[in-house]
Amino acid sequence: MDIQVKRSRAEIDLLNLKHNYGIVVSALANGQKPMAIVKADAYGHGDVAVARTLQSAGCDMFGVATFGEAARLREAGISGEILILGYSPANLAKQLVELDISQALLNADYASVLADKGYPVKCHFAVDTGMTRIGLDGTDTDACERVIRSFKDEGVLRVEGLFTHLSSADMEDDASGEYTRGQLTRFETLAKRLADLKLPYVHCLNSAGTFRYNAGLGNVVRAGIVLYGIEPDDSDCARDGLKPVMSWKSVISEICHVGKGVAVSYGRTFITPKPMTLAVIPTGYADGYNRLLSNRGYVLIRGHRAPVVGRICMDQMMVDITDIPDARAEDEVTLIGKDGALSITASDMARLTGTIGYEIVCDVSSRVPRVYIGEK
Ligand SMILES: *Cc1c(COP(=O)(O)O)cnc(C)c1O
Repeated sequence: MDIQVKRSRAEIDLLNLKHNYGIVVSALANGQKPMAIVKADAYGHGDVAVARTLQSAGCDMFGVATFGEAARLREAGISGEILILGYSPANLAKQLVELDISQALLNADYASVLADKGYPVKCHFAVDTGMTRIGLDGTDTDACERVIRSFKDEGVLRVEGLFTHLSSADMEDDASGEYTRGQLTRFETLAKRLADLKLPYVHCLNSAGTFRYNAGLGNVVRAGIVLYGIEPDDSDCARDGLKPVMSWKSVISEICHVGKGVAVSYGRTFITPKPMTLAVIPTGYADGYNRLLSNRGYVLIRGHRAPVVGRICMDQMMVDITDIPDARAEDEVTLIGKDGALSITASDMARLTGTIGYEIVCDVSSRVPRVYIGEK
């Protein structure tokens, strides 16, 4: 194994990705199709490999956050629709057309600036129905309708889609349910008023929305996190059967036996309460292993849990292997994934640091090579 790969690597299981894609497809209503959200390097999984795999599984719509992400996919041979869901500088208009990339319209002013460039950019109008982020003000249906029709009639931009984004579809409480239904109702009202435009793409559901609120509204769903086998939240809204796509592996670089009362790592936040055996792991916060896991996280070695002791360093960390006496230098270490009967998921790690699984996988840095398994 390549030295750099052995040090710390993210294994990306493309069979599990395809499996999760199948679960999304099975949650679709009649006439709907999925747009795979592959922004942020496919949530840290590697956008080109992920998009190619999904393309071979039949997916022909992809969503990204930036022009650079879209261009990379196009250049890698992704042939379907590619939609940039957020801001792109308007002076990219020509390149958007040349690469056949669609752009979200963030508001009326942005649409004007883009149209003024004079290129027939394919666009989807964003409508803000309650996220309070991008989009036309969805509480004013008349104004939304007027703006969208005016750009459609003007004929410079090719307005092909209408979409909104749900803020709380993953939350289980009643107020969130009511809020989400309010967003969907607002979107449906506008979509119906614009039905005569026959926009090819109408979409409002993210992963949580697809599994919890799919009453057939829209003909596209935007699925991100569930493709990677991670729940949108702590509940089981995606039903059973999602399989984690990323496993993160490292290695024991050294074992040290230390006495009682020994200070471990920066700031001496851990003092050994008894003689202990520690393993040094060559992965640290510069690899994306969150420093908040200091004295809190754990890894898996030989099917056992080994708690992190002391502060996570930039490139290394120490774990307690006192209770894993057969552990040896060069043993594989699981940071995320399965080892024997035990597992650590991105969501488990997220709970320890007060964040969400999304951020855990996005944070695995570019220093960690992605190794693809399950390719055909
Ligand atoms: C990131 C994103 C998604 C995907 O959300 P998931 O919760 O990962 O499914 C969908 N739509 C928009 C506009 C997004 O920005």
